[in-house]
Amino acid sequence: MDGRWYEWEDANIHVMTHSLHYGSAVFEGIRFYYNEQRGRAVFRLREHVERLFYSANLMGLSIQYSKEEMMDVIKAVVKSFDAKEGYIRPLIFFGQGLGLYPKNLDTHVMVGAIEWGKYLGKGAVRVMVSRWRRISSNITDPRAKVSGHYVNSILATKEAKDKGFDEAIMLDENGYVAEGPGENIFLVEGDTLVVVSSESILPGITRDTIITIAKDLGIKVVKKKVSFEELLDADEVFFCGTAAEVTPIVEVNGKLINAGTPGKITEQISQTFYKEVRGEGKHSEWVHYVET
Ligand code: PMP
Repeated sequence: MDGRWYEWEDANIHVMTHSLHYGSAVFEGIRFYYNEQRGRAVFRLREHVERLFYSANLMGLSIQYSKEEMMDVIKAVVKSFDAKEGYIRPLIFFGQGLGLYPKNLDTHVMVGAIEWGKYLGKGAVRVMVSRWRRISSNITDPRAKVSGHYVNSILATKEAKDKGFDEAIMLDENGYVAEGPGENIFLVEGDTLVVVSSESILPGITRDTIITIAKDLGIKVVKKKVSFEELLDADEVFFCGTAAEVTPIVEVNGKLINAGTPGKITEQISQTFYKEVRGEGKHSEWVHYVET
Protein backbone atom coordinates (compact mmCIF):
# COMPACT_ATOMS: atom_id res chain seq x y z
CA MET A 1 0.00 0.00 0.00
CA ASP A 2 1.37 3.39 -1.11
CA GLY A 3 4.80 1.95 -1.75
CA ARG A 4 5.20 0.06 1.53
CA TRP A 5 4.78 -3.55 2.56
CA TYR A 6 2.31 -4.25 5.37
CA GLU A 7 1.51 -7.32 7.38
CA TRP A 8 -2.05 -8.48 6.70
CA GLU A 9 -3.32 -7.24 10.13
CA ASP A 10 -1.76 -3.81 9.65
CA ALA A 11 -3.11 -3.04 6.17
CA ASN A 12 -5.84 -0.73 7.52
CA ILE A 13 -7.47 2.55 6.55
CA HIS A 14 -9.21 5.39 8.43
CA VAL A 15 -13.01 5.26 8.91
CA MET A 16 -13.40 8.69 7.26
CA THR A 17 -11.92 7.41 4.00
CA HIS A 18 -13.86 9.00 1.11
CA SER A 19 -14.09 5.84 -0.97
CA LEU A 20 -15.60 3.88 1.94
CA HIS A 21 -18.45 6.41 2.20
CA TYR A 22 -19.21 6.98 -1.48
CA GLY A 23 -17.90 3.98 -3.41
CA SER A 24 -15.42 6.20 -5.26
CA ALA A 25 -12.62 3.62 -5.42
CA VAL A 26 -11.68 1.68 -8.55
CA PHE A 27 -10.28 -1.81 -8.63
CA GLU A 28 -9.26 -4.85 -10.62
CA GLY A 29 -9.54 -8.58 -10.20
CA ILE A 30 -6.65 -10.55 -11.70
CA ARG A 31 -5.72 -14.21 -11.45
CA PHE A 32 -2.35 -15.89 -11.43
CA TYR A 33 -1.87 -19.54 -12.38
CA TYR A 34 0.86 -22.12 -12.07
CA ASN A 35 2.84 -23.36 -15.03
CA GLU A 36 4.73 -26.62 -14.37
CA GLN A 37 7.89 -25.43 -16.15
CA ARG A 38 8.06 -21.73 -15.41
CA GLY A 39 6.15 -21.23 -12.19
CA ARG A 40 3.51 -18.61 -11.54
CA ALA A 41 2.13 -16.39 -14.28
CA VAL A 42 -0.28 -13.46 -14.08
CA PHE A 43 -2.95 -13.72 -16.76
CA ARG A 44 -3.41 -10.72 -19.06
CA LEU A 45 -1.74 -8.39 -16.60
CA ARG A 46 -1.25 -5.56 -19.08
CA GLU A 47 -4.93 -5.44 -20.03
CA HIS A 48 -5.99 -5.39 -16.37
CA VAL A 49 -3.61 -2.53 -15.61
CA GLU A 50 -4.86 -0.64 -18.67
CA ARG A 51 -8.42 -0.98 -17.39
CA LEU A 52 -7.39 0.07 -13.88
CA PHE A 53 -5.95 3.29 -15.29
CA TYR A 54 -9.06 3.82 -17.41
CA SER A 55 -11.29 3.46 -14.34
CA ALA A 56 -9.05 5.70 -12.22
CA ASN A 57 -9.07 8.38 -14.88
CA LEU A 58 -12.87 8.36 -15.01
CA MET A 59 -13.02 9.01 -11.26
CA GLY A 60 -10.24 11.60 -11.24
CA LEU A 61 -7.99 9.34 -9.18
CA SER A 62 -4.40 10.07 -10.09
CA ILE A 63 -2.09 7.11 -9.80
CA GLN A 64 1.42 8.06 -8.75
CA TYR A 65 2.87 5.07 -10.62
CA SER A 66 3.28 4.32 -14.29
CA LYS A 67 1.55 1.31 -15.85
CA GLU A 68 4.88 -0.50 -15.98
CA GLU A 69 5.45 0.18 -12.29
CA MET A 70 1.96 -1.08 -11.44
CA MET A 71 2.66 -4.28 -13.37
CA ASP A 72 5.94 -4.72 -11.47
CA VAL A 73 4.23 -4.11 -8.12
CA ILE A 74 1.55 -6.69 -8.90
CA LYS A 75 4.18 -9.26 -9.85
CA ALA A 76 6.11 -8.46 -6.66
CA VAL A 77 2.96 -9.06 -4.59
CA VAL A 78 2.48 -12.46 -6.22
CA LYS A 79 6.14 -13.26 -5.61
CA SER A 80 5.79 -12.44 -1.92
CA PHE A 81 2.67 -14.60 -1.62
CA ASP A 82 2.96 -18.20 -0.65
CA ALA A 83 0.35 -19.69 -2.99
CA LYS A 84 0.60 -21.52 -6.31
CA GLU A 85 -2.51 -19.93 -7.76
CA GLY A 86 -4.65 -17.06 -6.59
CA TYR A 87 -6.48 -13.79 -7.06
CA ILE A 88 -4.98 -10.31 -6.99
CA ARG A 89 -6.90 -7.22 -5.96
CA PRO A 90 -5.46 -3.80 -6.80
CA LEU A 91 -7.55 -0.91 -5.44
CA ILE A 92 -7.09 2.84 -5.94
CA PHE A 93 -9.03 5.01 -3.53
CA PHE A 94 -9.51 8.54 -2.19
CA GLY A 95 -8.28 9.09 1.36
CA GLN A 96 -9.84 11.04 4.21
CA GLY A 97 -12.43 13.68 3.37
CA LEU A 98 -16.13 14.08 2.68
CA GLY A 99 -18.07 15.74 -0.14
CA LEU A 100 -18.83 14.84 -3.72
CA TYR A 101 -15.96 16.67 -5.39
CA PRO A 102 -12.91 14.81 -4.12
CA LYS A 103 -10.51 16.84 -6.20
CA ASN A 104 -7.91 17.67 -3.61
CA LEU A 105 -7.96 14.46 -1.62
CA ASP A 106 -5.01 12.11 -1.35
CA THR A 107 -5.17 9.02 -3.49
CA HIS A 108 -3.98 5.66 -2.26
CA VAL A 109 -2.91 2.53 -4.08
CA MET A 110 -2.96 -0.95 -2.65
CA VAL A 111 -2.45 -4.43 -4.04
CA GLY A 112 -3.59 -7.47 -2.07
CA ALA A 113 -3.76 -11.14 -2.95
CA ILE A 114 -5.79 -14.09 -1.70
CA GLU A 115 -6.34 -17.70 -2.60
CA TRP A 116 -9.67 -17.99 -4.36
CA GLY A 117 -10.95 -21.20 -5.92
CA LYS A 118 -13.96 -21.39 -8.19
CA TYR A 119 -16.00 -18.20 -7.64
CA LEU A 120 -19.31 -19.86 -8.40
CA GLY A 121 -18.39 -22.86 -6.33
CA LYS A 122 -19.11 -25.79 -8.63
CA GLY A 123 -19.03 -27.08 -12.17
CA ALA A 124 -22.30 -25.70 -13.53
CA VAL A 125 -24.84 -23.20 -12.23
CA ARG A 126 -28.56 -22.46 -12.06
CA VAL A 127 -29.46 -18.82 -12.57
CA MET A 128 -32.44 -16.47 -12.48
CA VAL A 129 -33.01 -13.24 -14.35
CA SER A 130 -32.94 -10.47 -11.76
CA ARG A 131 -35.53 -7.78 -11.18
CA TRP A 132 -32.59 -5.36 -10.99
CA ARG A 133 -31.48 -3.94 -14.33
CA ARG A 134 -27.76 -3.49 -15.00
CA ILE A 135 -26.39 0.09 -14.74
CA SER A 136 -26.45 1.83 -18.10
CA SER A 137 -24.25 4.23 -20.01
CA ASN A 138 -26.72 7.06 -19.33
CA ILE A 139 -26.11 6.73 -15.61
CA THR A 140 -22.42 5.94 -15.29
CA ASP A 141 -19.69 4.29 -17.36
CA PRO A 142 -20.34 0.53 -17.12
CA ARG A 143 -16.94 -0.18 -18.70
CA ALA A 144 -15.13 1.10 -15.61
CA LYS A 145 -14.61 -1.02 -12.50
CA VAL A 146 -15.78 1.53 -9.95
CA SER A 147 -16.57 0.19 -6.47
CA GLY A 148 -19.96 1.95 -6.34
CA HIS A 149 -21.13 0.10 -9.46
CA TYR A 150 -21.07 -3.10 -7.45
CA VAL A 151 -24.07 -2.09 -5.33
CA ASN A 152 -26.08 -2.99 -8.44
CA SER A 153 -24.31 -6.35 -8.63
CA ILE A 154 -24.69 -7.06 -4.91
CA LEU A 155 -28.47 -6.49 -5.05
CA ALA A 156 -28.85 -8.86 -8.01
CA THR A 157 -26.66 -11.52 -6.39
CA LYS A 158 -28.52 -11.24 -3.10
CA GLU A 159 -31.89 -11.62 -4.81
CA ALA A 160 -30.77 -14.73 -6.73
CA LYS A 161 -28.98 -16.45 -3.83
CA ASP A 162 -31.77 -15.65 -1.33
CA LYS A 163 -34.13 -17.44 -3.73
CA GLY A 164 -31.88 -20.51 -3.93
CA PHE A 165 -30.21 -19.84 -7.29
CA ASP A 166 -26.44 -19.86 -7.78
CA GLU A 167 -26.21 -16.55 -9.61
CA ALA A 168 -28.20 -13.77 -11.31
CA ILE A 169 -28.39 -12.58 -14.88
CA MET A 170 -29.11 -8.89 -15.37
CA LEU A 171 -30.95 -7.33 -18.30
CA ASP A 172 -30.02 -3.87 -19.57
CA GLU A 173 -32.39 -0.91 -19.38
CA ASN A 174 -33.96 -1.90 -22.71
CA GLY A 175 -34.66 -5.44 -21.56
CA TYR A 176 -31.85 -7.12 -23.50
CA VAL A 177 -29.52 -9.57 -21.78
CA ALA A 178 -26.55 -7.73 -20.25
CA GLU A 179 -24.40 -9.87 -17.97
CA GLY A 180 -24.01 -11.50 -14.57
CA PRO A 181 -23.18 -9.43 -11.47
CA GLY A 182 -19.48 -10.12 -12.03
CA GLU A 183 -19.38 -12.14 -15.24
CA ASN A 184 -20.06 -11.78 -18.95
CA ILE A 185 -22.39 -14.20 -20.74
CA PHE A 186 -22.07 -16.19 -23.94
CA LEU A 187 -24.72 -18.21 -25.77
CA VAL A 188 -24.30 -21.01 -28.26
CA GLU A 189 -26.92 -21.27 -31.01
CA GLY A 190 -26.36 -24.38 -33.13
CA ASP A 191 -22.66 -24.25 -34.03
CA THR A 192 -22.33 -20.51 -33.48
CA LEU A 193 -20.93 -18.69 -30.47
CA VAL A 194 -23.05 -15.62 -29.70
CA VAL A 195 -21.26 -12.71 -28.07
CA VAL A 196 -23.78 -10.68 -26.06
CA SER A 197 -23.61 -7.09 -27.22
CA SER A 198 -24.89 -4.34 -24.91
CA GLU A 199 -23.90 -0.79 -23.98
CA SER A 200 -24.45 -1.72 -20.35
CA ILE A 201 -21.81 -4.38 -19.84
CA LEU A 202 -18.30 -4.35 -18.55
CA PRO A 203 -16.58 -5.81 -21.65
CA GLY A 204 -14.41 -8.28 -19.80
CA ILE A 205 -10.87 -9.38 -20.49
CA THR A 206 -12.01 -13.01 -20.20
CA ARG A 207 -14.75 -12.27 -22.75
CA ASP A 208 -12.10 -11.01 -25.13
CA THR A 209 -10.01 -14.13 -24.37
CA ILE A 210 -12.97 -16.41 -25.15
CA ILE A 211 -13.69 -14.66 -28.46
CA THR A 212 -10.06 -15.17 -29.52
CA ILE A 213 -10.07 -18.81 -28.39
CA ALA A 214 -13.31 -19.51 -30.28
CA LYS A 215 -11.84 -18.02 -33.45
CA ASP A 216 -8.63 -20.05 -32.92
CA LEU A 217 -10.80 -23.18 -32.69
CA GLY A 218 -12.59 -22.32 -35.93
CA ILE A 219 -15.92 -21.73 -34.21
CA LYS A 220 -18.24 -19.24 -35.91
CA VAL A 221 -18.64 -16.10 -33.76
CA VAL A 222 -21.41 -13.48 -34.04
CA LYS A 223 -22.01 -10.44 -31.87
CA LYS A 224 -25.62 -9.35 -31.31
CA LYS A 225 -28.21 -8.09 -28.87
CA VAL A 226 -29.88 -11.00 -27.10
CA SER A 227 -33.48 -10.99 -25.83
CA PHE A 228 -34.71 -12.87 -22.76
CA GLU A 229 -36.50 -15.36 -25.07
CA GLU A 230 -33.31 -16.04 -27.03
CA LEU A 231 -31.51 -16.69 -23.78
CA LEU A 232 -34.09 -19.31 -22.78
CA ASP A 233 -33.94 -20.92 -26.24
CA ALA A 234 -30.13 -21.09 -26.43
CA ASP A 235 -28.45 -24.48 -26.94
CA GLU A 236 -25.71 -23.61 -24.45
CA VAL A 237 -25.07 -20.70 -22.11
CA PHE A 238 -22.02 -19.92 -20.03
CA PHE A 239 -20.54 -17.23 -17.80
CA CYS A 240 -16.98 -16.01 -18.03
CA GLY A 241 -14.87 -13.67 -15.94
CA THR A 242 -11.63 -13.52 -14.03
CA ALA A 243 -13.24 -14.84 -10.85
CA ALA A 244 -15.81 -17.12 -12.56
CA GLU A 245 -13.36 -18.32 -15.27
CA VAL A 246 -15.64 -20.40 -17.56
CA THR A 247 -18.80 -21.57 -15.81
CA PRO A 248 -21.57 -23.41 -17.71
CA ILE A 249 -25.16 -22.28 -17.03
CA VAL A 250 -27.51 -25.26 -17.10
CA GLU A 251 -30.77 -23.68 -15.96
CA VAL A 252 -32.37 -20.24 -16.44
CA ASN A 253 -35.52 -19.36 -14.48
CA GLY A 254 -36.24 -23.06 -14.01
CA LYS A 255 -35.82 -23.94 -17.70
CA LEU A 256 -33.07 -26.46 -18.42
CA ILE A 257 -30.40 -25.53 -20.96
CA ASN A 258 -28.99 -28.46 -22.97
CA ALA A 259 -31.00 -30.87 -20.78
CA GLY A 260 -29.22 -29.53 -17.70
CA THR A 261 -25.66 -30.39 -18.69
CA PRO A 262 -22.71 -28.30 -19.97
CA GLY A 263 -22.66 -28.21 -23.77
CA LYS A 264 -20.00 -29.44 -26.19
CA ILE A 265 -18.83 -26.05 -27.45
CA THR A 266 -18.69 -24.72 -23.89
CA GLU A 267 -16.51 -27.70 -22.92
CA GLN A 268 -14.23 -27.23 -25.90
CA ILE A 269 -13.71 -23.52 -25.19
CA SER A 270 -13.32 -24.16 -21.48
CA GLN A 271 -10.57 -26.77 -21.98
CA THR A 272 -8.58 -24.39 -24.18
CA PHE A 273 -9.16 -21.54 -21.71
CA TYR A 274 -7.63 -23.45 -18.78
CA LYS A 275 -4.58 -24.24 -20.94
CA GLU A 276 -4.11 -20.64 -22.06
CA VAL A 277 -4.28 -19.23 -18.51
CA ARG A 278 -1.41 -21.52 -17.49
CA GLY A 279 0.72 -20.62 -20.48
CA GLU A 280 0.09 -23.97 -22.16
CA GLY A 281 -1.78 -22.54 -25.15
CA LYS A 282 -0.70 -20.59 -28.19
CA HIS A 283 -0.94 -17.07 -26.71
CA SER A 284 2.30 -16.58 -24.80
CA GLU A 285 1.60 -12.82 -24.89
CA TRP A 286 -1.19 -13.36 -22.34
CA VAL A 287 0.96 -14.71 -19.51
CA HIS A 288 3.39 -12.71 -17.40
CA TYR A 289 5.74 -14.96 -15.45
CA VAL A 290 6.63 -13.88 -11.96
CA GLU A 291 9.59 -16.07 -11.08
CA THR A 292 11.85 -15.23 -14.06
N1 PMP B 1 -18.78 -7.98 -15.73
C1 PMP B 1 -18.64 -7.48 -14.49
C2 PMP B 1 -19.71 -6.60 -13.95
C3 PMP B 1 -17.49 -7.79 -13.75
O1 PMP B 1 -17.35 -7.31 -12.51
C4 PMP B 1 -16.52 -8.64 -14.30
C5 PMP B 1 -15.30 -8.99 -13.51
N2 PMP B 1 -14.28 -8.02 -13.68
C6 PMP B 1 -16.71 -9.12 -15.60
C7 PMP B 1 -17.86 -8.77 -16.28
C8 PMP B 1 -15.68 -9.97 -16.25
O2 PMP B 1 -14.56 -9.19 -16.55
P1 PMP B 1 -13.09 -9.83 -16.62
O3 PMP B 1 -13.17 -10.97 -17.55
O4 PMP B 1 -12.26 -8.71 -17.17
O5 PMP B 1 -12.73 -10.23 -15.26
